[in-house]
Amino acid sequence: MLRISEVKLPLDHPQLALDAAVHARLADIGVKPDGLIRYTVYRRAHDARKKSDIKLTYIVDCELKDEASAFKRMAGKPHYGVTPDMDYHFVAMAPPGFDRHRPVVIGMGPCGLFAGLILAQMGLRPIILERGKAVRERTKDTWGLWRKSVLNPDSNVQFGEGGAGTFSDGKLYSQIKDPRHLGRKVLDEFVKAGAPEDILYLSRPHIGTFRLVSMVEKMRATIHALGGEVRFETKVENLVIEDGKIRGLELSTGETLVTHHVVLAIGHSARDTFKMLDDNGVYLEPKPFSLGFRIEHPQSVIDRSRFGKFAGHKDLGAADYKVVHHASNGRAVYSFCMCPGGTVVAATSEPGRVVTNGMSQYSRAERNANAGIVVGITPDDYPGGALAGIEFQRHWESRAFELGGGNYFAPGQRVEDFIAGRPSTSLGSVIPSYKPGVTPTDLSTALPDYVIEAIREALPELDKKIAGFAMGDAVLTGVETRTSSPLRIRRKDNCQSVNVEGLYPAGEGAGYAGGIYSAAIDGIEVAEALALDLLGSRAG
Ligand code: FAD
Repeated sequence: MLRISEVKLPLDHPQLALDAAVHARLADIGVKPDGLIRYTVYRRAHDARKKSDIKLTYIVDCELKDEASAFKRMAGKPHYGVTPDMDYHFVAMAPPGFDRHRPVVIGMGPCGLFAGLILAQMGLRPIILERGKAVRERTKDTWGLWRKSVLNPDSNVQFGEGGAGTFSDGKLYSQIKDPRHLGRKVLDEFVKAGAPEDILYLSRPHIGTFRLVSMVEKMRATIHALGGEVRFETKVENLVIEDGKIRGLELSTGETLVTHHVVLAIGHSARDTFKMLDDNGVYLEPKPFSLGFRIEHPQSVIDRSRFGKFAGHKDLGAADYKVVHHASNGRAVYSFCMCPGGTVVAATSEPGRVVTNGMSQYSRAERNANAGIVVGITPDDYPGGALAGIEFQRHWESRAFELGGGNYFAPGQRVEDFIAGRPSTSLGSVIPSYKPGVTPTDLSTALPDYVIEAIREALPELDKKIAGFAMGDAVLTGVETRTSSPLRIRRKDNCQSVNVEGLYPAGEGAGYAGGIYSAAIDGIEVAEALALDLLGSRAG
């Protein structure tokens, strides 16, 4: 097929205008109207750089009667190309009746879910072990913290079926390179499981929380139907390693599971499991991550600033943003996991700690916009080895718990007070969405001085990019510490740990992904590497 990009049309254009624009672009390379069999929209984005004239931008794939001639005539012309093969091709397939040791996947977040699905589709009947509960029961536990300040350390916003991304905005994009179009496989599987079809063509697709819950259940059913198995409330507590090779897993149920192939997709919050890996000598190293707060504004302020008179337009939806400021103390301050029309959520997995994050529903219709506003830090800021970043996170999360009042309320401050360096004694027109509640206070001791200074400097600067960003009543809550993994479980080109054969560190916790989409893609790649090792051949 022929791919045409940069097809630009105004908002509210009729379907006929798109048909006409495609025909016009085809005419430019000599294709007559009857030479087109059909076209499909591969991608739709909006270009809001000029607020008074927001445009929709399309990439379309055209099926032509005579593609060979069109390909010759488009040579050298910008914005024409050949549609790549985006179908997923399995790298290996188990022969019927294959019954050698079954591969095991630890963790059922997006990485473990996709690793498990691909292994199941290749006929390898994986066993997935998940410390948390099945998604419906887990939802009740998660709400237990939000509504009643009761935390279940093994079933919460970080742990349980679906992993950390289940109660989220469900953003499905990433800046990673994806030359094999594995992201397409991720989106196709999500649509099969009930995601809205628009995720296949919107440039910044998202799913929202409620749909994710039922999708995860459907994907589990698919894995079961293919001979896989999922065990909930089963934590991996130790590894059995012999001569540098993985030989089994000790489980919280008392069982020792024999296996030679393990995908380690444990996410960035499995701190006890990281310690267990360290105790077993698995090679870990510290890595940079970020610390900061969540900021909340009325969504209408963000919409107006980004879309001007088109604020609220149905094709634009609730506006998002991505901002960065390089502070004079050398730190980068940037927005993280922005959730338009969403809520700030309590995201701790450990008692006596407070952590913020954000989520939304598909409609993104809540009154506030929220985003992490975070500062990059490196292992130089927390010296002490591979697990030192975890202790650093814990320190600030405990401090937030204390500042919030010791009842899982988050400490919060009006932006005007934060910039002026005075405590907030009450909140203003922006009502924070974090549950169970927010305690107005002084956030200046909630994070290291260099983080506070950098954010204080950044807010008025970011207001120059998004009018209203530093509005006095905007609210900061915190702390935002689980931005990415504080360590990496280094692996070789064959995706196995550098010092334990048969162990495949994967996803966000291993430091090889950031977000749902890239974690899912990493899960596919690791499953493929495992299958090639196990079956020792490529599919025909
Ligand atoms: P996880 O999703 O963390 O999954 C790891 C799983 O392993 C967990 O279920 C855990 O219970 C299990 N586990 C850990 N240790 C063990 C053990 N010893 N034994 C058995 N099981 C174990 N990303 C986006 O791209 N878009 C968003 O909109 C978005 N919003 C977010 C909102 C919130 C509130 C949160 C918390 C995160 C959000 N993220 C978002 C980040 C995203 O969720 C993560 O990047 C992603 O889930 C990482 O996937 P993963 O599979 O690597 O790890």
